[in-house]
Amino acid sequence: MTDRDSTSMTNAERLRHLPAVDQILRQHDVALISDAYSRPQLIAWIRMAVDECRREILRGAKLDKKSAMQCVIRGTLHQCQLEDGRRQTSVINATGILLHTNLGRAPLAARAIQRMVQSAGYANVEMDLRSGKRNHRGERIFDLLAQLTGAEDAVVVNNCAAATILVLQVMAAGKEVIVSRGQLVEIGGGFRLPEVFAASGAVLREVGTTNRTYLRDYEHAIGENTGAIIRVHRSNFFQGGFVTEPDIAELISLGKQRGVPVIDDLGSGCIKDLSKFGLKEPAVTDSVAAGADLALFSGDKLFGGPQAGIVVGKAKLVELLRRHPMMRALRTDKMTLAAIEATAEIHLSGNPMQELPLMQMLSKTVADVRTDCKRVLERLPAAVANRIEICECTSSVGGGSVPGSQIASCGLVLNVENNDAVAKSFRTGSPAVVPRIHNDAIMLDLRTVDATQLDALAVRVEECLTPGQ
Ligand SMILES: *Cc1c(COP(=O)(O)O)cnc(C)c1O
Repeated sequence: MTDRDSTSMTNAERLRHLPAVDQILRQHDVALISDAYSRPQLIAWIRMAVDECRREILRGAKLDKKSAMQCVIRGTLHQCQLEDGRRQTSVINATGILLHTNLGRAPLAARAIQRMVQSAGYANVEMDLRSGKRNHRGERIFDLLAQLTGAEDAVVVNNCAAATILVLQVMAAGKEVIVSRGQLVEIGGGFRLPEVFAASGAVLREVGTTNRTYLRDYEHAIGENTGAIIRVHRSNFFQGGFVTEPDIAELISLGKQRGVPVIDDLGSGCIKDLSKFGLKEPAVTDSVAAGADLALFSGDKLFGGPQAGIVVGKAKLVELLRRHPMMRALRTDKMTLAAIEATAEIHLSGNPMQELPLMQMLSKTVADVRTDCKRVLERLPAAVANRIEICECTSSVGGGSVPGSQIASCGLVLNVENNDAVAKSFRTGSPAVVPRIHNDAIMLDLRTVDATQLDALAVRVEECLTPGQ
């Protein structure tokens, strides 16, 4: 029954046309991708594709032998595309959110990337190359971080949440840690600071109310069993109206009087003064200068480095952290250390405004961003460019930093029928582009797009806006 017209066949006959797994594996298009995936994975995808084509036949599709084969190949390649979409890869961030947690927060400086690559093989992580003897992991990096923040010493762990747990464990396990009710934040991903604190074994002693906490509230709470006072920066929301709380300097002075250490969980870790961009965020140097015993911040927020939790402060306390057994479980790997070292060097002696992508993006004027928008438009054929408008918009810092920040920006607004489908094709092509939806339209905010990405972005815009794509 080789070439009989498929319309005159029964479903049972058509089902027999479905190819065997082995046959599919030998097909050219499937053989091409077979190096990139394991055989059991490919076979599983082929079986899924065969099942789907079987269902199509049972629903009445009149597939002959050739179209049944094509149906299975198409299904297999589709499964493989879905898998590719899950692979971690670089994306063009056109959301205008500078520290986008879902997109890896701070983009690293070229110098930091280069140093990570250099450290990827063997590297002198724990060896002094002059003496050939073992030294302490990260020694020079801690020195740089201390210099940068004005602190006596520093130490680095995997992220700021880990830093909080370690610090509280060392300072307040089995004791009370005093915190204002107005600062009990949820940091995202469902993680709540009170729960993170509790994981350290410290007992939370909440004081004040959501909107108002006074110095005397802290004062009254200090007792025999007080381990520390912690100030938590409200890094992802803001309070207004009838609110008050003591500033860090007042807390530190109270702590000194009563012999209670004061910890400042800054989160965002502002190193450079950002007030010229209209952004207000507490600076690490201010906390240290005010005399905080320990100040903690993330490496991948305003510091502009890799994911890390950086702790700076009094030498004696930092040494206790370094010697704590938990430190071994929380220590960072050599790649992270390399990137922090390079980022700290940039802050100290480089040109952070030019070298740190985050600062570069922040310093772009609306006119700069508008010029980039025009550059993309110029690269597009008229039929595509006609469906795009340049509009002013607002970018934000995001990622648990400078809550409510609004930075005037400029972007491309795309006039398309189906926002969801077009946004999906932006995300799933190569390079992946993540747009945002603004006033019910797809918008590409170019503040977060680097000048070197404009060509690639134009190609993707053309691809996604050309009919038949
Ligand atoms: C972001 C943030 C954290 C968590 O930092 P990670 O590096 O993401 O673990 C903790 N506390 C504050 C105040 C923060 O802003």
